[in-house]
Amino acid sequence: MPGNEAGKQPGKRLRQPIVVVLGHVDHGKTTLLDKIRGTAVTAKEPGLITQHVGASVVPASVIERLAEPLKKIIPFKLIIPGLLFIDTPGHELFSNLRRRGGSVADFAILVVDINDGFQPQTYESIEILRQRRVPFVVAANKIDKIPGWKPHPDTPFIISYRQQAKWVQEELEKKLWDNVIAKLYELGFQAERFDRVKDFTRTVAVVPISAKTGEGIAELLAVLAGLAQRYLQHRLRFAEGPARGVILELREQPGLGTTADVIIYDGVLKRGDLIVTGGLEGPIITRVRALLMPKPLQEIRIAKRELEPVGEVYAAAGVRVVAPELEKAVAGAPLYVATSEEEAKKLAERVRQEIEALRIKTEAE
Ligand code: GDP
Repeated sequence: MPGNEAGKQPGKRLRQPIVVVLGHVDHGKTTLLDKIRGTAVTAKEPGLITQHVGASVVPASVIERLAEPLKKIIPFKLIIPGLLFIDTPGHELFSNLRRRGGSVADFAILVVDINDGFQPQTYESIEILRQRRVPFVVAANKIDKIPGWKPHPDTPFIISYRQQAKWVQEELEKKLWDNVIAKLYELGFQAERFDRVKDFTRTVAVVPISAKTGEGIAELLAVLAGLAQRYLQHRLRFAEGPARGVILELREQPGLGTTADVIIYDGVLKRGDLIVTGGLEGPIITRVRALLMPKPLQEIRIAKRELEPVGEVYAAAGVRVVAPELEKAVAGAPLYVATSEEEAKKLAERVRQEIEALRIKTEAE
């Protein structure tokens, strides 16, 4: 089944955690996501595609390789198959990732410019993450702009940090404290540079990075993966049953009508499946006509690739769903696979309630 190898890990116990990137405008969210995607693409793992629809996967093997020099600080073996990053940063798309009692996102990276510090959208992001109960790490970005900093491209932070002059290290520590850690304390969070954290359940880990030079990206991915598989095992346990997901975005596609970009967070979605989703006029029961995924990677380019049909996708995955009646659907609606017409009716009632709750919430926000 070409185009679907990344999500197909039936032998593994856990699925990829779904990760979102939030933070203030211009603090480097897009640059960070590009860097992370670039890391996965450059590593070019054979047989593993990294691109999904609306999301990208960094396979575990890539994270392990990047974290190799950090073995002494972050000793772990990955049992998750990788990390799935939602490609579009910021709170707008994040608000479409709702799921009963929280978010489809399992983890978040809050990006803060270490020089600029907390800004209005930084506070907003924390508030949203708190409301949805999404755990997060902080990426203290743009360390390359600290006066005197000598960049060591694509090197772990710890290694680059050791090679900086003493006064430069002190400058970093001061900014890290004043602009990031102290601010988190003011909001009631205990926080610490990641390599000084003793108890990750109580302390927010802060990873100094440069999305531009790639310094610290190894630690950021390693900390995320390590924390997710240690504390979210229950959530990440992969079920081979009917899929559950959420509509991230709706898209008009010539010849196919309205299609839905869906994030699948549990189970398996197959062509021909009976699905239940929601629109403002009520629940929609329809059948999957086609599932589209990007073609497997041929070359080292991050350019948008053509989509091609696949027979099935396994959580976690981002996939484009082609089905009748999607023009009535709304972004943010849940999407469930039903195993019978009868079950579809029950699920439709559930969807109706969830959309109703979503509307009330949206109006309240
Ligand atoms: P977003 O609005 O949060 O997505 O921010 P962008 O990723 O668009 O970045 C805003 C600007 O900051 C761009 O000009 C980036 O090139 C720059 N930028 C992002 N990360 C870094 C970094 O680590 N170091 C430096 N020097 N510039 C950065």
